[in-house]
Amino acid sequence: MSKTNGGRAADFDAVIVGAGFAGMYMLHRLRGMGMTARVFETGDGVGGTWYWNRYPGARCDVESMEYSYQFSDDLQQEWDWSERYAPQPEILEYANHVADRFDLRRDIQFETRVTKATFDEAADRWTVETDRGDRVTAAYMVMATGCLSSTNTPDFPGLDSFQGRRYHTGNWPHDGVDFSGKRVGVIGTGSSAIQSIPIIAEQAKHLTVFQRTPNYAVPAHNGPLDPAVRNKVKADYPTFRAEAKEMRSGLHTRPNEQSALAVSDEERRAQYEKRWQAGGLPFMGAFMDLLLDGKANDTAAEFVRAKIRSVVDDPKVADLLSPKTVIGCKRLCVDTGYFQTYNRPNVSLVDVSETPVEAITKNGIVVAGKEYAVDAIVFATGFDAMTGALLKVDIQGVGGLPLEEKWAEGPRTYLGLATAGFPNLFTITGPGSPSVLSNMLPSIEQHVEWIADCIGYMRDKGWKRIDPTVEAEDAWVGHVNDVANHTLYPSCNSWYLGANVPGKPRVFMPYIGFPPYVEKCEEVVANGYEGFALA
Ligand code: FAD
Ligand code: NAP
Repeated sequence: MSKTNGGRAADFDAVIVGAGFAGMYMLHRLRGMGMTARVFETGDGVGGTWYWNRYPGARCDVESMEYSYQFSDDLQQEWDWSERYAPQPEILEYANHVADRFDLRRDIQFETRVTKATFDEAADRWTVETDRGDRVTAAYMVMATGCLSSTNTPDFPGLDSFQGRRYHTGNWPHDGVDFSGKRVGVIGTGSSAIQSIPIIAEQAKHLTVFQRTPNYAVPAHNGPLDPAVRNKVKADYPTFRAEAKEMRSGLHTRPNEQSALAVSDEERRAQYEKRWQAGGLPFMGAFMDLLLDGKANDTAAEFVRAKIRSVVDDPKVADLLSPKTVIGCKRLCVDTGYFQTYNRPNVSLVDVSETPVEAITKNGIVVAGKEYAVDAIVFATGFDAMTGALLKVDIQGVGGLPLEEKWAEGPRTYLGLATAGFPNLFTITGPGSPSVLSNMLPSIEQHVEWIADCIGYMRDKGWKRIDPTVEAEDAWVGHVNDVANHTLYPSCNSWYLGANVPGKPRVFMPYIGFPPYVEKCEEVVANGYEGFALA
């Protein structure tokens, strides 16, 4: 199908945007079907999240043995993680290993940002344009642009007047940063801040943390990966993976099916303590109703608050660091010595919940009329999550409708895979899919495989155009909201709701529940792509 233009193919079966784990596997899969594909990637290397987020302490919070591809058993067997939670450089090395092993780079064009995509209704093809002047066409367009790839820097007055160095955790310098002898300000206390603050504090002369909302964190208890654990998993990876897929979040949370309110105080505390000692995200699996019932949730929240009080010396600081919201409503953080860091004499905490950051000056950060002088500011202020990277591309569907206009009141998709009026366009881990509420690698693989099978089906049946119906999409959006509204998730200002970005519509974006979601996707296929119009 491909024509060439100056030696470079200009027409492809598919254009893939992004070379993180999603884009890389999509390319591999389509190639395996004999299709031509071009990947465009803004960065100069593969790895996405792990290419950009090089801040000190960056690592996964899903255990290494689970945070990896499963599509190739040889790959699973040959790769060895060194730590229980792999550090960012190792995950990036893994991404590069995958790119080399499957010879992916020859179809990836780096340092190229896709700026525009227009659907040509007569040809049933997408025309894709880049900031490097490329203009190519493709029958299918796959957005592998990432849920957490569009950084959010609040528009603080005076931001550009700052004369020190400015960093965002999500776009960290490749050659690292040495904070030795520096006065550093960190704005934000989400996962990125919680991972980086203990390390920055060790280097800096003084660290001031500006906190708007305190976060819950459970200890990682990270360390070298126990060879016995590695060997056990490797000996039967299929069972390990299959078990994870039965879990609501697609990872081993070891769920306890009891209610937190059905057991004695002692039993409850013992359950929390056991999970606290084990560490990590499975803490939220302690009882089945932690995200369903406020009273149940408060037992877990209070357990963590007590832990914070027990390690932070100054009771006022401990109180400021203690979240009052529902635990798990914002993504639970996994830490290494985070709360203890506030006992250091060179660390101070500034509460900006009531008195927000007023301004950035040439010397520092102003809160409640007081200037905190700093040499460097770290913006750990997160991302325009789930929709940010998609809407940065000017995507125009049927009748020239811009995606931004269609999604003005919030994203609307069918299964988080496609959106009506934008035929032959697929989103990997798009809004309306489990994505960020799941272990993302299995979610990515499930989406890539679904999309590849769909494209294969289209080819086999001679169809040229696939587009979800508005009815199917409306029903799915309604279902995503209904499921969320039966939980405590909508009760706080999380980025799942877009609440971290001023002006963003408040809509709960991810779908809760990996197993029912996969079942629905399979049912849609079994019923001949039910909910899609094929032409
Ligand atoms: P990304 O890795 O975000 O890749 C998207 C790529 O698309 C980027 O490289 C970007 O440059 C490129 N791109 C975007 N727009 C364009 C454009 N217009 N043109 C060209 N290129 C474009 N998930 C977990 O399950 N477990 C974890 O432990 C975990 N830890 C995380 C830690 C951090 C610090 C962050 C930020 C996220 C973490 N996540 C984690 C989520 C993580 O994003 C996913 O696990 C996964 O890496 C996403 O892969 P992806 O390919 O979908 O997207
Ligand atoms: P985040 O969770 O959105 O945290 C951003 C922080 O910045 C929040 O504390 C937020 O406060 C604060 N903030 C934003 N705007 C502000 C403003 N105008 N003034 C003051 N404070 C402001 O972002 P993140 O830490 O980068 O994490 C994003 C997601 O990436 C995580 O939830 C997780 O899914 C993933 N991640 C995972 C890991 C890991 O452990 N593997 C590490 C990093 C990231 P509010 O809470 O008040 O909005």
